[in-house]
Amino acid sequence: MNKKKLGINTICVHVGEVKDEQFKGAVSPIYTSTSYAFDGVDVKRYPRYYNTPNQEMLCKKIAALENTEDALIFSSGMAAISSAMLAFLKKGDHVIVQQVIYGGTYNFIVSEFEKYGIEYSFTESDNIEEFKLLIKENTKIIYIETPSNPLLGITDIKAIAGLAKENNCISMIDNTFASPINQNPYDFGIDIVIHSATKYMGGHSDISAGAVASSKQNLEKIWNTAINLGGNLSDQTVWLLERSLKTLNLRVKEQTKNAQLMAEYLEQNPNIDKVYYPGLPSHPQYDLAKSQMKGFGAMLSFELKKGIDAMEFQKNLQLIKPSMSLAGLESTTVSPVQTTHALLTEKERLERGIKDGLIRFSVGIEEVKDLIIDIEQAIEEAK
Ligand SMILES: *Cc1c(COP(=O)(O)O)cnc(C)c1O
Repeated sequence: MNKKKLGINTICVHVGEVKDEQFKGAVSPIYTSTSYAFDGVDVKRYPRYYNTPNQEMLCKKIAALENTEDALIFSSGMAAISSAMLAFLKKGDHVIVQQVIYGGTYNFIVSEFEKYGIEYSFTESDNIEEFKLLIKENTKIIYIETPSNPLLGITDIKAIAGLAKENNCISMIDNTFASPINQNPYDFGIDIVIHSATKYMGGHSDISAGAVASSKQNLEKIWNTAINLGGNLSDQTVWLLERSLKTLNLRVKEQTKNAQLMAEYLEQNPNIDKVYYPGLPSHPQYDLAKSQMKGFGAMLSFELKKGIDAMEFQKNLQLIKPSMSLAGLESTTVSPVQTTHALLTEKERLERGIKDGLIRFSVGIEEVKDLIIDIEQAIEEAK
């Protein structure tokens, strides 16, 4: 059977199941062994070799979702990111990194790379020309994240993939915010697609995991480093992640639909100054987003009008939860000023467009009317 021909929900439910040959149960059995026979077997299995039955099979589902040859799963998004980057880098190499990226990735690069003699440059925006200017003889990786956090900036995926190929570099993308339902960067020529599966793939705010999807050749290289770094995912959690992925399309489609409606509602709310969502024609890269995304995702940000305190507003919410993470079935908000950007000075924050009244909103599957009522009462109370 050609997996590419399967519909998205069929992939979510069926690809990568571990068949229960013994009892013919409907769902994958969990194999929790950390010790497998070495004699008379084709594969020497061990959790840190990323090849227990549950690990191996789940990778097939993720590969089918991202249209790649294969995938690897990790214990966190950062384990996936660090293993993927370090696999391709050695002393003296150079990496180009998009300016606005996940804080943990930023910290990993600035606090670890120097120790290994790896150079890096951050762009000043997500414009492709910025990346071109930074290419050097020793550039090995171009690393992007789109849509980006928290202002939902969009980077041109195809242009980055082309630039990397022209210069013999590996292109990597953090595809977490879009999820495989809304964006498949491998189809645009990106070499390596990375996810924090703690977010949409897990989707219930109860799993820490990561994934890398790519060609077999690239994954072999990443595997060689990954087995040394040891960021493998336990089989219990692999199984939970498989269960979560069965509803990935249903969840993300519903969340995306809600996010569009919420963005349109917030944009016309007189108490809101600005809404950042790639699905709004007012977004400066709306056309670019439309050309590379299948849906605009379920993350958005908005700025409360001056005089409405962001913390007060969030304390007043009764349904929507102020919460550090994102992408769960439940709607959550966060103040970037208090969390992801807390260590920057006010001037640095404003240079990056992060105002005190900015709220990042991860839209869940609740009814839109209930979310609107909650936001309206929270604003009135905060006034
Ligand atoms: C959360 C997140 C990560 C890191 O993932 P962990 O699972 O927390 O290690 C990386 N990138 C993005 C965009 C994220 O939101």
